[in-house]
Amino acid sequence: MIARVSLEIALRKEFDYSIPPALAGKIEVGTRVQVPFGARKIFGTVTALAEESAHTNLKPIFKIIGAQTLVTPKVLQLARWIGEYYCCAPETALKSVLPEAIRKEKEGWKKQLFVRARDFAGEFPKLPKRQQEVWNIIEERREMLLTELLELAETTAATVRKLEDLGLVEIASEISERDPYAREHILPTQSITLNSAQAKALGEIIKAMGVENSSRTFLLHGVTGSGKTEIYLQAIAHALEHNKGAIVLVPEISLTPQTVERFKARFSSGKLQTLVAVLHSHLSAGERHDEWHKIRQGRARIVIGARSAIFAPVEPLGLIIVDEEHETSYKQEEAPRYHARDVAIMRGQMENAVVVLGSATPSLESFYNSKKGKNVLLELPERVDDQKMPRVRVVDMRQAAAKEKGAPIFSPQLKEAIHQRIEKGEQTILFLNRRGYSTSLQCEKCGYVANCPNCSISLTYHRIEQKLACHICGFVDKVPQFCPNNKCKNPAIRFSGTGTQRVEEALAKIFPNARVRRMDSDTMRRKDDYRKTLGEFRAGKIDILVGTQMIAKGLHFPNVTLVGIIHADSALHQPDFRAGERTFQLLTQVAGRAGRGDVEGEVFVQAFAPFHPAIQYARRHDFTGFYEQEIEFREQLKYPPASRVALLTLKGRNEEKVKFSAEHLKRELEKVLGEFKDLILSGPAAAPLARAEQFYRYQIMLRTRAMSKLSQTLAKIVSNIALPDDVTLSVDIDPVNLT
Ligand code: ADP
Ligand code: ZN
Repeated sequence: MIARVSLEIALRKEFDYSIPPALAGKIEVGTRVQVPFGARKIFGTVTALAEESAHTNLKPIFKIIGAQTLVTPKVLQLARWIGEYYCCAPETALKSVLPEAIRKEKEGWKKQLFVRARDFAGEFPKLPKRQQEVWNIIEERREMLLTELLELAETTAATVRKLEDLGLVEIASEISERDPYAREHILPTQSITLNSAQAKALGEIIKAMGVENSSRTFLLHGVTGSGKTEIYLQAIAHALEHNKGAIVLVPEISLTPQTVERFKARFSSGKLQTLVAVLHSHLSAGERHDEWHKIRQGRARIVIGARSAIFAPVEPLGLIIVDEEHETSYKQEEAPRYHARDVAIMRGQMENAVVVLGSATPSLESFYNSKKGKNVLLELPERVDDQKMPRVRVVDMRQAAAKEKGAPIFSPQLKEAIHQRIEKGEQTILFLNRRGYSTSLQCEKCGYVANCPNCSISLTYHRIEQKLACHICGFVDKVPQFCPNNKCKNPAIRFSGTGTQRVEEALAKIFPNARVRRMDSDTMRRKDDYRKTLGEFRAGKIDILVGTQMIAKGLHFPNVTLVGIIHADSALHQPDFRAGERTFQLLTQVAGRAGRGDVEGEVFVQAFAPFHPAIQYARRHDFTGFYEQEIEFREQLKYPPASRVALLTLKGRNEEKVKFSAEHLKRELEKVLGEFKDLILSGPAAAPLARAEQFYRYQIMLRTRAMSKLSQTLAKIVSNIALPDDVTLSVDIDPVNLT
């Protein structure tokens, strides 16, 4: 027998190996193997078995990695599609479907030494006092960890070994599973009786699950608090009843212990009891290994995780849920540049699993697809508790600025509203797009801005650490005492823009008695920080929580009656056709944090462009209205979802070479333009982020509806084009980040 193997080096080629007698019958499609390649030993995955090969002198496979086939044939098929559609080497695609901890041999189950009392026949020996004490403990407990025994008995391993020599105990190494949630106490929950909108949505999903080859995708559009998660839970229960498993994708940032617990709690007992495996980037390699294998062994039928959990080896798979489907973090920003939502839809089709995309603010792509009949729209227009949507007030900051020489951080209206909440003992969330003290350091006299020397962006001021930092490359610099421009040297150099640190400080001045806490990626470094801060906020130990994106998502605090958005239009000024969509989504999400309890919530949106449609439609909680006007603009300019985009980025240290290469690529592309009726080529042009980590960046954008065909054409061009050694080309299909 011959095995065809895809190696872990991107050669866009598979290689044949012979199967040595010792491994005969043990290798199948999907088996991980180690093989010789030149003088090296390389990991790979078997993609096919054959009777014979076109090549002679095949080398034999060295060995098999892992006790079980690691890549199921279905996941293998999915990886193939990713390679083709996202225009990357198949080896790169295949590599991404297995976590590093599984691919490498290093990680295994954690083995620990256990001590176990043996059944002792015959006369019990007379033991020295110390040994007798140790034996007493073991006899009572029958079995325990060696480390635990040593601690408890205050003894050494040598003493225990003596008991082993006497045949009283056995010391053996056994698997001990790592459970990242072992410390949580989880109370079981029951299904809730659904309201009529929920029941109708669930009914449709369940109906589709019963039909073979329906391949149904649903778009569940429900405002925050409309009971989407409860529908997910009951749909999963239905899958389990039919002996099928489920994958739940959640953006990394929303994958809080709170979220995980809701799923674990529902399936921790009862007749549908199953383990819920969790996959996210904060797990240790060992934890990831254990979680993954619990899935592969079929003990965990439910997987909840971030982007890459879409590749979890759940078999058979009945349901895939993509919560917050509009989130950009579902897109991987390195090869393979896949979009987990779109991969989910493809996997659903391949495995006849139902796919549910959920969001309060669906992406234009998904909503467009429901209009075109590619998915079925399910709507939950009301909150389950009949609460009103919060009242949203837009504050025109131009007026506030005119009154007070320069824009204040807080408008008088917001200040007053915060004041009232403090008086009443209610809580406030203040949201800002940026971390740090302020965005940039700018001289008001000469206009000097402190920029990163490696990247074409301004440095961010961090006050506590007294430093300027680049958020792209990590460059750090001292804060100058006066303007570094030699002709200026203005000692009153100022910080423009507002960051979370500055808001925190301003609050301390205005409300000296309020308990204020800041939550952003600078203050939430350690694993536990996030949970601790939220715990304190929930317990009412914090009056005002100031934060970035981190606080925008899925949190549920009944006592929060006020949400302030400090600078709502900052996200509008981005060189990206989705800037309006992002702003709308963000405002809607943040506003959803207010009034989740008995008191009606209030939201203040401070903006310099208060009449922008993204802000006005968000104020009215009008997704459809926003969609209607936004889709018109996308259709006119042939932006997604009216077409699809491929973004080609060339990078290099020498700007002339990059520019020249981009022109060369454009000429190659023009040769094939004729094959596509609707293709639009723009560029080359300097990327919005023109320079990053010392690399100059140029882009070409292609737009067409026939993306699968274009991907195939691009793959050929990319692998044949001759570029200078120090210029690299990357292809991003359906990009979400245009910088
Ligand atoms: P979403 O995911 O849309 O934000 P959730 O499913 O989290 O909404 O529901 C919000 C809250 O309402 C949760 O505490 C949930 O347990 C509760 N809930 C959901 N459905 C119902 C229902 N039909 N009746 C009463 N409470 C419900
Ligand atoms: Zn930089």
